[in-house]
Amino acid sequence: MSYQRPLRLGMVGGGQGAYIGNIHRISSRLDGAWQLVAGAFDVDAERGRAFALTQGIAPDRSYGDYMEMIAGERAREDRIDAVAICTPNFTHYPIARAFIEAGFDVICEKPITATLEDAIALEKLTRESGRFVGVTYTYSGYPMVHEARVRVAAGEIGRVRTVQVEYPLEWMATAIEQQGNAQASWRTDPKKNGRGGSIGDIGTHAYHLAGFVTGLKLESLTADLATFVEGRALDDNAHVMLRYEGGARGLLWSSQVALGNSNGVRLRVFGEKGSLSWFQEQPNDLVLAPLDGRTQIIKRGADDLSDDAKVRTRTPPGHPEGYLEAFANLYAGFAETIRARQSGREPGVIGQNLPSAYDGLKGVAFVDAVVDSHEAEGQPWLTPVAV
Ligand code: NAD
Repeated sequence: MSYQRPLRLGMVGGGQGAYIGNIHRISSRLDGAWQLVAGAFDVDAERGRAFALTQGIAPDRSYGDYMEMIAGERAREDRIDAVAICTPNFTHYPIARAFIEAGFDVICEKPITATLEDAIALEKLTRESGRFVGVTYTYSGYPMVHEARVRVAAGEIGRVRTVQVEYPLEWMATAIEQQGNAQASWRTDPKKNGRGGSIGDIGTHAYHLAGFVTGLKLESLTADLATFVEGRALDDNAHVMLRYEGGARGLLWSSQVALGNSNGVRLRVFGEKGSLSWFQEQPNDLVLAPLDGRTQIIKRGADDLSDDAKVRTRTPPGHPEGYLEAFANLYAGFAETIRARQSGREPGVIGQNLPSAYDGLKGVAFVDAVVDSHEAEGQPWLTPVAV
C-alpha cells in the first residue's frame, strides 16, 4: 500500500450560522480522504475570514471572496483539489463556472443552479472542460438506497409499475422567513432560490432518488403547486404525477408545511414481483415485500448485501449509521473519482453512480417543467428538457 495524501478541499459559503457547510466539513473528514485547507466562507468578507480562523484555516488561505480564492489557490503548488460550493442557489452558477474555468474540480450543492439556463450552461461547461463536477444529492449516499438500486436493476421486484416518493418537511409551516430566519429568507425569494419553492429545494432530492433507484427515465409530468403560508412568493407544497418511459407511473410529493415531519424522505417502488420501501428516518432498513412470500426487513451491514451497499457501510449491523455517513459516502466517492482521474485509472465501486452535473441539470429541468405545468391552463403533461 502506498501513501495517499488527503485531497485538499476548499469551501465557498458554509460560514458561521450556515446550515449545510458544517455537514460538508464533518462528512468530508470522516474517512480521512479530505482536508479542508482554504475557504471564502461568508458573503461578508470579514465574517468569512474570522470564521476561517476558527476552522484551522491558515490566514493566507482565508479569503474574502471566491475570486480572491481562485487567484490565491491558482498561484500555489499545493492548490486545492476541489471546491465545495455551499452557498444559496443563485450563486452556484457564477461560482462553479469561475472555478471550472480556472481548472478546479467542483462539488456543488443542489439544486445545481437557480435557473434552467444556468444549469444547461454549467452542464455544457462541465462536459467541455473535462472537470469533475459532483452534486450532493444526499439520499443517494445511503447504503440501503444503493442496495435498493441494485435489487431493482437485478429484477428482484420485476418490472416497475409505480413509484411513490415523498419529501415532507415541517420547518416552514409558518412565515419564518418574515421573522429573520436566514435559511428560509433566501429560499422564499425567487431571485435567490429559483422558480420552484418546495419543489426546487426538496422535490429535486425526491426526483433524483426515484430515478436513481429505479433507473426509470421520465417521459412527462403534470403538477399542482400550492402556497399555503400567506405572503410567501413560492410554492410550499407540490404534487406531481409522473409518467416514465415504458409505462411506469409515479407520484412525487414535496412539502415544507407538513407538520409532524422532520425529514420524512420516503421511497416506495412497486414492481410486478414485489415492492421495496425505504424511509430516511430509519435508513438502516430496506423493506422487501415479495409477491409470494413474507415481507422482510433487509438490514444494513448484513453479509449478503451488494458490494455497492458494503463499500458504503462503516459499522456492523445494529450500530446505526445515518445522515452524516451518507453524506460522507458522497465525499468518499468524490475523492475516489478525483484520485482515479489524477492517476489515470478507473474509479472503484464507491466512485461509481455519483450524482453528476447532468443529474444536476435534470433536477433543474424537472423543477422548470413542474412550474410550467402548474402555470399552464389545464395542467398539461410536459417533458422536461433533460430527463
Ligand atoms: P445558509 O443560508 O445556511 O448558508 C449560506 C452560506 O453561504 C452563508 O454562510 C452565507 O454567508 C454564504 N454565502 C452566500 N453568498 C456567498 C458568496 N457569494 N460567497 C461566499 N459565501 C456566500 O444556506 P444552506 O441552508 O446551508 O444552503 C446552502 C445550499 O445548500 C443551498 O443550495 C441549499 O439548497 C443546499 N442544501 C442542501 C442540502 C442537502 O441535503 N444536500 C441541505 C440543505 C441545504
